[in-house]
Amino acid sequence: MTAMVKAEGVHKSFGNVQVLKGIDLEVATGEVFCLIGPSGSGKSTFLRCINHLEKINAGRLYVDGELVGYRQKGQKLYELRDTEVARQRRDIGMVFQRFNLFPHMTALENVTEAPVQVKGESKATARERAGQLLERVGLGDKAKSYPSQLSGGQQQRVAIARALAMEPKLMLFDEPTSALDPELVGDVLDVMRDLAESGMTMIVVTHEMGFAREVGDSLVFMDEGVVVESGHPREVLTDPRHERTKSFLSKVL
Ligand code: ADP
Ligand code: MG
Repeated sequence: MTAMVKAEGVHKSFGNVQVLKGIDLEVATGEVFCLIGPSGSGKSTFLRCINHLEKINAGRLYVDGELVGYRQKGQKLYELRDTEVARQRRDIGMVFQRFNLFPHMTALENVTEAPVQVKGESKATARERAGQLLERVGLGDKAKSYPSQLSGGQQQRVAIARALAMEPKLMLFDEPTSALDPELVGDVLDVMRDLAESGMTMIVVTHEMGFAREVGDSLVFMDEGVVVESGHPREVLTDPRHERTKSFLSKVL
């Protein structure tokens, strides 16, 4: 089986600040891959590189066997044209800590926007699917609500439905529950758990160690731009091998 994501020696700097210092990892198709690590370790930057929001400086990054942003001919790399980058991006859904819904659109309109504008789906088809997706995230009765009328947890579930509307093959979650009041976290995690059970490939940056343990297939601990430790979540969380992992877990568990 080909990996859904493969990183080989991925480096990323901002100016002379090195943020990713050679990331090697593989995310298998269909797995839930959890990424943990202290603030500033480069987790968001790594997700943003996968989703074309940042460009890597060195190494190779593949999604579903294709180089991200480049085409290789012999030893040479050529940057992809904008239309090709857009095609690659369409297959990747991303959910951020802040939900970033369009404030002037209802929940349903938020979910139909991209399929209609980007994919050219008919409004009727997009609306029908959006309704089903809102049902799926437990918000069938909120289709006509505006973001300001929804709780943070509900908004985040709309954001997940919006990402799913593009039928991505890979979903990236960047601390999706970190901005939520504690009592709203569970509903969002439940939606993510359902999605995992449906076979979606997911990379989840999270501090929810319970979720990582129960739902995750793999877990990577990152610190200062490198992968320190990886393995099955239960293994890493209960029997970390490296001091840096132990020290981090003692603060968050
Ligand atoms: P994490 O998500 O693990 O908290 P980030 O990937 O957000 O870490 O950030 C890693 C480091 O990269 C931080 O020191 C941050 O300040 C820096 N960084 C992230 N994005 C930028 C940017 N656009 N310009 C400059 N520095 C950045
Ligand atoms: Mg981050």
